[in-house]
Order: sequence, then structure tokens, then C-alpha cells
Amino acid sequence: MRKLWIDGRFADSSTGATIQVVDPATEEPVDVVPKGGPADLDRAVAAAKRTFPAWKRTPAWTRAEMLVEVGRRLRAAREEFALTLTRETGRTLRKNRGYVDWAAMCFDYYAGLIRDRRGRVIPSAQTGQLNLVIKEPIGVVGCIVPFNYPLMLLAWKVAPALAAGNTVVIKPATQTPLLTLDLHRVFDHLPKGAVNIVTGPGSEVGDALVRHPDVPCIAFTGSTAVGQHIYRLGAERIKKLHLELGGSDAAIVCADADLDAAARAVAWTAFLNAGQVCTSAERIYVEQAVHAEFLERFADLTGRLVIGPGIDETTEVTPLIGRAERDQVEARVTVARREGAKVVAGGRRPSHLTKGWFYEPTVLADVRHGMSLLKEEIFGPVAPVLPFRTFDEALALANDSPYGLGATLYTRDARRVRRYFEEIEAGNVWVNDPLVDNPAGPFGGMKMSGLGRELGEEGLEEFQVTKHVHWDIEGSVKPWWFPLEK
Ligand code: NAD
Repeated sequence: MRKLWIDGRFADSSTGATIQVVDPATEEPVDVVPKGGPADLDRAVAAAKRTFPAWKRTPAWTRAEMLVEVGRRLRAAREEFALTLTRETGRTLRKNRGYVDWAAMCFDYYAGLIRDRRGRVIPSAQTGQLNLVIKEPIGVVGCIVPFNYPLMLLAWKVAPALAAGNTVVIKPATQTPLLTLDLHRVFDHLPKGAVNIVTGPGSEVGDALVRHPDVPCIAFTGSTAVGQHIYRLGAERIKKLHLELGGSDAAIVCADADLDAAARAVAWTAFLNAGQVCTSAERIYVEQAVHAEFLERFADLTGRLVIGPGIDETTEVTPLIGRAERDQVEARVTVARREGAKVVAGGRRPSHLTKGWFYEPTVLADVRHGMSLLKEEIFGPVAPVLPFRTFDEALALANDSPYGLGATLYTRDARRVRRYFEEIEAGNVWVNDPLVDNPAGPFGGMKMSGLGRELGEEGLEEFQVTKHVHWDIEGSVKPWWFPLEK
């Protein structure tokens, strides 16, 4: 059985209890992990706090070299790590290999950035003075990640947090703790206590991490409901919070777009990882003139996607993470049908797969904007398609959501593109090529999709605090000090 990783050592859980990890594609147990509790979390935070002053003082170049080594170790373990990810998430092995590389690239990127980061010298009011703006690490950072991208979303937090000189305590999702616990292998050349890993329920270990007085910064990715809870808890100590939350992304397909490319791209964004992507297309608005043709192509393509376990190299659509999540998707399609939606592809569990939490990629037509399906994040392989008449209408519909995470436009009309990126209320905007992430490109949401940015320079600044230093070098008496005339 894997163990917790606290203060550079393996640790048993104080609770003595375990959590069973189950393969979503087979419903078979994969392994058990320790069910950590608040006492384990306390030990992890104490270790991270002890290590922080020395890690903060470690020269940025040395920290950078250590992060490059993390990337190297990740790549060296690609095949093994990808397999573990497939077992716990159900996602394809093919994709998981890429995600291991992506995580490694993220460590490389922040190693490069921190080597070159400077504060700045600003003008002083008087001669003989120096005014400095310096960027410092914050302290112990709590990193809480969801089940859908356990490694990549962790790298987006841990790499910049460590690069900036913080120490971290990691809390993975209960469904996907395996690879996270294996990561001690890529971090064990760092000072003991710089990285600590505690598994356990969000409501206990996650909650204790957020409430902990010695954790001034929380980097969280997950649902908006849990994000709101963390926001409230963080207010008690005015913690620095970095919240990457849910979405209900709109895709707009214009009549002038390459319809074949658009249909494939929308299928990719709607059904990748069984729709369990925060930026999956959950509302597809298609210009009236091409609506019927798009729907036909999209439904045809969707019907031909290969559903199966991620371990199979030919699989395109994998299972949902759990029974409850699959049942939730199924129930929402049932309600949408009752409200008038028509299933034009999918709409049921695949009959050839008797085990695993699969649901067919599903295309819905005759959907109205006010339907309950469009109001909340779906987080499953369901793509509702709606027509629009004017571009104004498409923009208004796309923006009529409490969320503002990602958005995609398919067109070759530069005037529409410009209007779109100015008016769309989303933090990540793609034109003709969705879901492309870039280590240098800040990622994050507007509205109820979150606060702060991951990746890019902004992703480093989230883990820094700014200090302004005013230094009067001579230390002479100033005429404006009390007492005025003595
Ligand atoms: P979740 O909110 O249920 O859980 C996320 C993490 O929070 C888990 O580690 C969980 O154990 C922990 N947690 C739960 N309750 C907690 C509490 N009270 N205090 C502290 N931590 C707690 O989310 P999920 O079901 O794992 O993931 C799906 C959600 O994540 C979706 O809403 C999706 O949109 C979102 N997500 C967002 C992004 C983004 O970048 N914006 C990326 C991926 C996923």
C-alpha cells in the first residue's frame, strides 16, 4: 500500500483507515491508500513551515535546477505514471503520456522563469534613497486538486509555488490519489518538507488545510460549490486564494467556418475525458444557415466515436469517474428530454460494455436556452446544440451564464473575431482551435469560474507577495518629522 509523504519520509495515516481506489472502466479495485486525517495534515503543515525559511533563501538558480530535475524524472517515468493515471482516472493511456510530458514542461517553464525574475527599482522622492519592489514567496501553500487532471493541475500549482520559494502541502481528490502519492519519487531530491502529500476526504483533510492558521495561501481547482466554501473559510484569515472552478463553456459556430473542422473540434471539446473537462463545450450555438448541416455532421461523427477503456489504444471516449457521476449525467439527459430536447446521437449506456461507468457521447437538438440542462455545469459527455440568427444574439447567449471559464469561436471573419475576444466573458478564449493550453499562457476564469490565473507569469505571481522597501541611505533628520523646530 502506498503511504503518505510527510517531511521527506513515508508516513502511515493517523486514522489507520484506508480509501479504496476503483478503476472506472472495470469497477475493479486498483489499490487502497491511507485515509489521512487532520493530525496528518498538521504534521505536513508543520514540516512545510519548518522548511520554508531555508527554501525561500535557496538561490533561485538552485531551485530552478531542482525543478528541471523534477521534469526529467517525470519524463523518465512517463509510461509507468501514465498507466497509473489511466487506472485511477479511466482516461486514455495515449493522452496520459502527453499529460506526464505536459507536467514536466510546466516544471521546466517555471524553472526558466524564476531564473530571470527580478523585482524593480522605482524612483525615490529624495536623493540618497533607494526604493525597491521585491517579490517574495508567501509561505506554506495548500494545493487541492480535482479528480479529472490529477497530475497536470497539480503541476500548474506546485511548479510555480516551489519556483517562487514556497513549500507545499498537496491534497489530491479521493478518487485519484495513486499517482500523487507516487510523486515522492520526483520530489525526493528537494529539502525534506518542501513537498508533503496527504490523502483523505476533502471535507476533513481539505477542510483542515484551508482552515490551518499556518497556511496563508490555498491553490484550489474543483467545483464552484467547494470553491465558495473555501472562499468563505479563507475570509476568516484573509488568505490568498487561488480558485479554479467550474464552467459551462459556449462554442459559437459561424456559417463561414470550416464545418468539418468545427464539427470535429466540437466533438473533441465536448467528449474529451468523457466531458469531464472544466473547459468542455457544454453549449453549442450554431448559425441558423448551417445549423442543420452542422448537426448532421456532428451527430454522425459522435456516433462513430470509439467508446471503451482507456488502456485500449483505439479508445476515444472513456468512462465517467464514478457511478454517481454517470447516473447524474443520465438523469440530466432524461430531464432535458422531458423538457423537449431530442437525442440525435448517444443518449444511453453503451450496450457492449457491461462493466464501467460509461455513457455514450450524446448530442441533443431542440434545446432551448432556458432549459435546466444549460444552467449548471454538466461535466459529462453531453453536447446540446442550439441555433442562432445574428452574431449579437450568439454573443448574448454565450455570455448569459454565471460561469466564465473558456469560450470558443469558429469563424474566418476577422471582424467577428475581434468583437468576440473583446466582448466574450471568459478567461480563456480560443478561435478555431479549442482547448490548447500553453505554459506561458495564463489560464483561469471570470465570474463564478474563479479567481486568479495559473500558468504564465501571472501563475507565478499568484504565489508571491509584493514588498515595497523605502531605504534612506544616510538616515539624516527630515524636516517634516516631529518635533518641527528642535
Ligand atoms: P470537487 O470540488 O468535488 O473536489 C475538488 C477537490 O476539493 C478534491 O480534492 C476534494 O477532495 C476537495 N474538497 C472537497 N470538499 C472540500 C472542502 N470542504 N474543503 C477543502 N477541499 C475539499 O471537484 P471534483 O468533482 O473533484 O472536480 C470536478 C470539478 O472541478 C468541476 O466542477 C470542474 O469544472 C472543476 N475543474 C475546474 C478546473 C479549472 O481550471 N477551472 C479544472 C478542472 C476541474
